[in-house]
Amino acid sequence: MQVLRADEMGMCFGVRDALTTIGRVADPTAVTIHGELVHNPEVLAMLDRRGFHRADEARRGVPGTPVVLVTAHGVSDRERERLTAAGKQLLDTTCPLVQKAHAAAKELAAEGRRVVVIGRADHVEVRGLVEDLAAPIVVASEAEVLPWPERRLGVVSQTTTPVALARRIVARIRAENPHADVREIDTICGPTKARIEALAALLPRIDALVVVGGHGSNNTRQLVQRGEAAGLRTLHVEHAGELQPAWFVGCRVVGLTAGTSTLPRTIDEVASWLGRLESAPVRGSA
Ligand code: SF4
Repeated sequence: MQVLRADEMGMCFGVRDALTTIGRVADPTAVTIHGELVHNPEVLAMLDRRGFHRADEARRGVPGTPVVLVTAHGVSDRERERLTAAGKQLLDTTCPLVQKAHAAAKELAAEGRRVVVIGRADHVEVRGLVEDLAAPIVVASEAEVLPWPERRLGVVSQTTTPVALARRIVARIRAENPHADVREIDTICGPTKARIEALAALLPRIDALVVVGGHGSNNTRQLVQRGEAAGLRTLHVEHAGELQPAWFVGCRVVGLTAGTSTLPRTIDEVASWLGRLESAPVRGSA
């Protein structure tokens, strides 16, 4: 069995820079990570071992530590003000591309547009985006698009939204709101686009696909959906320990990709497991 890696995969610069900042924290016990830093159980376990506190995903209440770390997903201005008013020092690791999405939403609102955010309402980044907006609309699918009364609409996307989905939703918004002037600002991040494009190039060359990443990771799930939509046997694992030889019976070429919060070490471990399988007798393995 041959293993082909996607040209672009795994950890993005936003997550890597956030982890670098975290790695420099001298006293983790004085810091609360405000929400899930990355959707990667291995990294979260490492943070727990170092002694960081973690707020729950809902990020309610005021953390007890003097320092609060804002994750790469970002928070609203309102949330920043709430924390600083409570005397907290903020350690900000918001990804610059998430900051651009916030700036785009504010620009559209300043033009007098009602802002439509493409994404899941419960996604932490979407919550940060909408909290500073008046009467925002959040849509996750074409079916959720309605005719709205406003004559000016603005559209942004959660940064890891699949490009094709965003295009379909924007087209539906225009079709359902012919009376409105609709302006879209593309806020889908470059690393996400690059990973999807690299996977698209890989799909015609493989018999099965292994996607490495957290089960709670939005962008990892999208990679899995792309493999499944192409009709491929697609396996989603968080680490090499979940792989089983029986899954690869009959495969000649397996593709490998990974979500943006997957550690390079985890990808290498999966690749090495698959590489060893290459020379192992596959048929009949348990
Ligand atoms: S996925 Fe994109 S927006 Fe999110 S942290 Fe990575 S680079 Fe930034």
